Amino acid sequence: MNENLQIRTFKKTGHIEVICGSMFSGKTEELIRRIRRAEIARQRVIVFKPKIDNRYSEFEIVSHNEQSYPSVVVEDASEIPEKSFDVEVIGIDEAQFFDNNLIEICQNLADSGRRVIVAGLDQDYRAMPFEPMPQLLSVAEYITKTLAVCVVCGAPANRTQRNSDSDNKILVGATDHYEARCRLHHVVNSEKFIQSH
Ligand code: ADP
Ligand code: MG
Repeated sequence: MNENLQIRTFKKTGHIEVICGSMFSGKTEELIRRIRRAEIARQRVIVFKPKIDNRYSEFEIVSHNEQSYPSVVVEDASEIPEKSFDVEVIGIDEAQFFDNNLIEICQNLADSGRRVIVAGLDQDYRAMPFEPMPQLLSVAEYITKTLAVCVVCGAPANRTQRNSDSDNKILVGATDHYEARCRLHHVVNSEKFIQSH
């Protein structure tokens, strides 16, 4: 057998999976489902979330339908590799809250044979791409776009409507600040302002 081929056969290849969509589209639910299946397969798993997302719990990722899974809170993505030393499957929720250094970190983890599952918002409340998700989408092996239900018309929704006056890109919250909306019913604050004047 060719020597290179032999080496390759022994080294397991990794990959990146991205789960993205609007709020309420089931990203966290889907991440938890995949992590639980990896556990059934007796793989060592770990889940991370950024410190900024403390909506429901400090120690778990929690979905809007109240499923949860233990998670490690990190302030910066650079903490992920050292904490994933002995792990085969790495889940990362709310990835849009990390810096662009998350891209290289996910690439390195996948290069070293890990399965990396990244969940996050692909668009902000203005329907603009939410970094670092676009870059992660371009390097991922597998992409799942999840859709919510538009609260106005019931159509599939891939946008997040912010129902508050804040113009900050990041405003952590759930039903108090945000709704799932389809393309037709999504409006940003400034448009609302223009429409009402
Ligand atoms: P995400 O992580 O994408 O914000 P979650 O996985 O936390 O989504 O929550 C998905 C769950 O949210 C659904 O299974 C459903 O029970 C609930 N939900 C609430 N509002 C909506 C909506 N407008 N469309 C779809 N699901 C919704
Ligand atoms: Mg979520």
